[in-house]
Amino acid sequence: MIERLESTIKKIEVEGKVVAVQIPEGLKQYADRIIDALHKRRAKNVFLFIDPNFGACDLKDGEARKLGADVLIHFGHNRFGRITKTEIPVIYVPITLELDVEKIVTALKKVEGKIALCTTVQYLPYLKEIKKRLGDKIVIGRGVLATEEGQVLGCDPGACNVDADVNVIITDGIFHGVLARMQTGRRTYILTPAGKLIDVEPHVDKYIRQREAAKMLAREAKRVGVVITTKKGQMYADVAERVAEVIRKAGVKVDILVCDYFYPEYVEGMPYDAYVFTGCPRVPIDDYTRFKKPVLTVAEAMEVWGEA
Ligand code: SF4
Repeated sequence: MIERLESTIKKIEVEGKVVAVQIPEGLKQYADRIIDALHKRRAKNVFLFIDPNFGACDLKDGEARKLGADVLIHFGHNRFGRITKTEIPVIYVPITLELDVEKIVTALKKVEGKIALCTTVQYLPYLKEIKKRLGDKIVIGRGVLATEEGQVLGCDPGACNVDADVNVIITDGIFHGVLARMQTGRRTYILTPAGKLIDVEPHVDKYIRQREAAKMLAREAKRVGVVITTKKGQMYADVAERVAEVIRKAGVKVDILVCDYFYPEYVEGMPYDAYVFTGCPRVPIDDYTRFKKPVLTVAEAMEVWGEA
């Protein structure tokens, strides 16, 4: 993979420029080679951000500008729909992983009915070929925050919102499938890059039980922390204020808290019985077992304390 990245870097014009770089966790092992490749392209200086990076929602263009960078190269993701303006130019370099299209097509032929097919950014370039092979059996939609046709994000399974009988998502994880099933209400399969179809239904049951438990605990809360993240694409201060207002009206004390990452350690020992996180909706779900107090999404908070 690093060889492919190095040849991509060869095509990026950075001569004489101060370059800031963001990489996802999986590329950290190649940090030295990425930096060397940029120096070979005669970059004047290179700054590498080492914070965990899970999406282009967490774009560090403002920080890069403060470092004096002329350009930010963001590896691993494409543009996040909510970010339309940046403080310095940003070059997105999504990473494409190998995919055996033959195996994928064989698996898709076994699925009955019309398929809403989507995937994560790593396999997006293969969708066109798959659609060409299977014709009208495949429908490809478009989400809201995800900027490419057929692309899903952990916060946006909208590409599945098309007229079809079943959703199939090519990816390694289960989460996107659970969201797509919840949003569309129809049968949803994960199709792994190895060609294995996994029905997400048992995972949906587990997810619903987990979320119901969190909501039940939150209902008992005497004081709630509504958390805003300062990450550029995830910052919803207005939403946080609105949620806080709804909670207050329900007779519960509430404070607005701010952070970049919402780590469980940050709120250890704080006087709150529950939290509402207004940033990435994956945080309350992925880190469910790490938080000692219930953490709700905005939609769940509205269910518990107020409006639909
Ligand atoms: S799921 Fe979370 S990390 Fe991924 S793009 Fe959406 S907000 Fe960002």
